[in-house]
Amino acid sequence: MPVLEATKVSRNAYEAALLNFDLAADKLHLEPDVREIIKYPERVLHVSLPVRLSDGHIHRFEGYRVQHSTARGPAKGGIRFHPNVTLDEVKALATWMTWKCAVVNIPFGGGKGGVTCSPKDMSIEEVERLTRRYAASILPLIGPEQDIPAPDVYTNSQTMAWIMDTYSMTKGYPVPGVVTGKPISLGGSLGRNEATGRGVFYTVLAACGQLFIPIKGARVVVQGFGNAGSVAAHLLDSNQAYVIAVSDSRACIYNKNGLDIPKLMLYKDKTGQVLGFPGSTEIQPAELLALECEILIPAALENAIDEENASSIRAKIVAEAANGPVTPEGDTILESKGVFVIPDILCNAGGVTVSYFEWVQDTQHLFWEAQDVYSRLERIMKTSFAEVLKIHLEHKVSMRVAANMLGIGRVAEAVKLRGLYP
Ligand code: NAD
Repeated sequence: MPVLEATKVSRNAYEAALLNFDLAADKLHLEPDVREIIKYPERVLHVSLPVRLSDGHIHRFEGYRVQHSTARGPAKGGIRFHPNVTLDEVKALATWMTWKCAVVNIPFGGGKGGVTCSPKDMSIEEVERLTRRYAASILPLIGPEQDIPAPDVYTNSQTMAWIMDTYSMTKGYPVPGVVTGKPISLGGSLGRNEATGRGVFYTVLAACGQLFIPIKGARVVVQGFGNAGSVAAHLLDSNQAYVIAVSDSRACIYNKNGLDIPKLMLYKDKTGQVLGFPGSTEIQPAELLALECEILIPAALENAIDEENASSIRAKIVAEAANGPVTPEGDTILESKGVFVIPDILCNAGGVTVSYFEWVQDTQHLFWEAQDVYSRLERIMKTSFAEVLKIHLEHKVSMRVAANMLGIGRVAEAVKLRGLYP
């Protein structure tokens, strides 16, 4: 296993999600009955996945699909393939999806899926068999009007194509709207692949504007140079910021004058790692997080910043491209240091927003130009940032509490209006 792969799992992500729910619900003075309804997952499926490996043996994997809420629309959320996947992690991620969809005000609830596996150590054929088995096992839950998966860590558009195909086989006709993040040729949306990083970029621009930090010359550090992290880095680099350090699961690299991001993206594509990129030096993970910079983007996994290392952070802005990268304990420390945190359910909501656009396009069989996708995304991200900022300033709460207040408030309103639970 690569050296950094085993991220800290000390903080239970689901407990953190519940804790953050309570903080926001208290500020909203939410009625106990409504809390009972919206706090917990509506539906949890735990599946056993026997898959034949290339050596001829059967290996049994465990997978999950959690629908946290369908109060505002079908459940929506990615699928993660990672060795650290647990039911509690998936429950946390599904919970955050509910508040996230409500923050950007798109008509979805929250869901998430995961399989405990190490796709990097598997052949492509093994990953395909596992994906199809998983898709077949969660079939009763998913569908364009029920629950729509998308890519997450170590899954991608190919994974979505296999899920779409497996689902469509059971129907006898193609159903592109069952997943988002598909290849363009199967009904994917232009701009979906870059959407999360692009959304991170828009919120970083908004935060820099608020804090009077010029983007030109700003120093950026990215933990996790994958889909979300590399696109955010690329857009910031294109706007004359300096990306001085990045990492992946194997190593962290640094150049105080800024890394050449387009070349680094090609290098990572070719070699599968950032280590050894010409002109960079290797640093340790703790050093990367503690670098003096304007913008730190955790874009890997949960619990990257906690009570042990939060005091070492020297960034002015922490932009949470990842889900749950700062623990509640880490939050308290960052707040006391005056670090401006763009919380995950706002910062990385660009991905689900363009997933929504993809679903709309699939439903209408009418596809948009890339520029339409970008301008609609920009409008939604900027509006959502402004709405969260307003609550942050008016209620004198952290940006995280403010975002949760916005999302949870909208879900609570939906439940009350539907009168589902008299
Ligand atoms: P990805 O698989 O494309 O990239 C993950 C990256 O993190 C990889 O480069 C991997 O090497 C690196 N990584 C893993 N462990 C690490 C560690 N301990 N230290 C440093 N780097 C490490 O995944 P992604 O889709 O970019 O997802 C990253 C984060 O963004 C996740 O938290 C995910 O939930 C969140 N997110 C993704 C999307 C999306 O649309 N892809 C949307 C919203 C949120």
